[in-house]
Amino acid sequence: MKNMFFALTLLYTSLVSAQYWQQAVDYTIAVELDHETAQYEGTQSVVYTNNSPETLHKVFFHQYFNAFKPGSEMAIRLKNAGDKNGRFNVDIDSLSPKQQGFLKVSGLTQDGAKTTVVDSETILEVSLAKALAPGESTTFKMSFEGQVPDVIRRAGKNSKEGIAFSMAQWYPKMAEYDYEGWNADPYTGREFHGVWGDFDVKITLDKDFTVAASGYLQNADDIGRGYSDRKKAKSKKGKITWHYIAPNVHDFTWAADTDYIHDTYPGPNDVSLHFFYKNNPDIIENWKKLQPITTKLMEYFNEKIGPYPYKQYSVVHGGDGGMEYAMLTLITGNRKFGSLVGVTAHELAHSWFQHILATNETKHEWMDEGFTSFISTLAENEVLEENKEFPLAGSYRGYYG
Ligand SMILES: [Zn+2]
Repeated sequence: MKNMFFALTLLYTSLVSAQYWQQAVDYTIAVELDHETAQYEGTQSVVYTNNSPETLHKVFFHQYFNAFKPGSEMAIRLKNAGDKNGRFNVDIDSLSPKQQGFLKVSGLTQDGAKTTVVDSETILEVSLAKALAPGESTTFKMSFEGQVPDVIRRAGKNSKEGIAFSMAQWYPKMAEYDYEGWNADPYTGREFHGVWGDFDVKITLDKDFTVAASGYLQNADDIGRGYSDRKKAKSKKGKITWHYIAPNVHDFTWAADTDYIHDTYPGPNDVSLHFFYKNNPDIIENWKKLQPITTKLMEYFNEKIGPYPYKQYSVVHGGDGGMEYAMLTLITGNRKFGSLVGVTAHELAHSWFQHILATNETKHEWMDEGFTSFISTLAENEVLEENKEFPLAGSYRGYYG
């Protein structure tokens, strides 16, 4: 077990063998959200490096929020697919214009030159102005506008538990190009696969909102969060900008609410744990009790898998799930204590399997979910001192089922 991480790394290296390569992408994003219309607009600069041995003539971006429109491929799949997900029983075709989501990209240039784009709902296909040879980098610039849908799956606005904005897969996101080619799958309601890089993100919105995000906050003093007093900042007028840097991740997610309590708690190895949860008297005690437990969970994973490589991790009360994201998780929060610990353990464990090893979840979901479920079940058994003789019995029951 101690050498699980090493063994997996070895397995990967040998599978992908001699010519392993990985694309790289760095984002600089500035986005402004109008909380009343749930619409946002922004600009994005993307520096993309082709580390593959092939010359690229096209690139692809995901536009995930376009799945939440009547007639979308996701809408059709939900109506017709045999493997319907019970947690996902929404009729997208019946969404009103305000409930729908969208993401539109405009003015996309490559190193200043115009490109030709084909918009196919959740995928944007870009024919390059100049082909990108192996080892070369190029810069894409674009504007985008979007609307946050109601919470359907993973992201959305105004959740049942009252979370205003859960912002996952919200920006034009570079598709991964790997040894299997372009992973430009339309979004029909499954998992994700992304390109590693650095994110510099500025989020502007009404001052009354507290933001929880991937990455490290750069201007805690400006926004009145020396992690203590948001009240002073809230007395300023208008909008404020939250500036984050997330190094070496393959995703950037955030959430915002006017009513978040924000606590920090010391994790192992100088990692700062952050907890954002709704100021709801029914849940506060559980969310306080969760904090020392999260430190113990991280200690367990550090020991059994390998040290968590970032200096921050946030457990965020969001609109759906749990779902794992870079340096944070969004989970629903009105849960019994055992369930709150269970979902936190599971999503935190994903930090190693989805956010360090980063297998292609769209194609091989079992790899990430399998290792995550295995280790988080064992962690829960130890940290909660459950002392079960066979903690994985539930997984076996599921498998037999
Ligand atoms: Zn999972």
